[in-house]
Amino acid sequence: MKLLLIAGNWKSNKTISESEDWIQKFNAKCQMLNAKWENKTVVLCAPFTLLNILKESIEAEKLPLGLGAQDVSPFGDGAYTGEISARMLKGLADWVIIGHSERRKYFMENDEVLAQKVAKAKEAGLKVIYCVPDDKMSVPRSVDVVAYEPVWAIGTGKSDSPENANSVISSIKKQSGIHIVIYGGSVTAENVFSFVSQDAIDGVLPGGASLDPVMFARLITAAISG
Ligand code: PEP
Repeated sequence: MKLLLIAGNWKSNKTISESEDWIQKFNAKCQMLNAKWENKTVVLCAPFTLLNILKESIEAEKLPLGLGAQDVSPFGDGAYTGEISARMLKGLADWVIIGHSERRKYFMENDEVLAQKVAKAKEAGLKVIYCVPDDKMSVPRSVDVVAYEPVWAIGTGKSDSPENANSVISSIKKQSGIHIVIYGGSVTAENVFSFVSQDAIDGVLPGGASLDPVMFARLITAAISG
């Protein structure tokens, strides 16, 4: 059976009470759809401040959701004020996004620092989703998943064509040797199946469409059933 990974990215959004409200509404949708989600991986990548409460709610409600962070420190524990180390994350999240284009753009993260982040995340046993804007960008060997996210498609409502995404993803797979590559950039419930039905595309990374629990549940259903 073809692999399917859906990784929602909340970016810098939601308070604790908003995240609790999201879980409640998502849970109501999940109850009806649970059976169909077997063998699919759905991960919610949330701000650090919400990981603990989300972990508790996901466990209490037995939701079929994994948890991911959106960044990690390139350093270990120690005198790095404001940083969250990979060891601090382990236990709260199983996944971490590294190299998102917003981190590269607004926080000047370069290949060198990203490679350090990947190394720390892997040392701590986290699974890494590594974002690249095209097939030219180098990818550290140890990452688990690559997300192809053309910068112009992120948050713009203009997605890449499924055919082009498939061809870029095939090229990323060939060059990086990484077997799981997903697409991100204005993915919605309406267009998700056109991406995941492509040969080389193993899943999607929706940002905006993961913020609303009903919309996110619809997107997952559409990805699974077309
Ligand atoms: C993202 O968060 O990486 C993303 C692709 O966002 P959006 O789906 O809103 O374009």
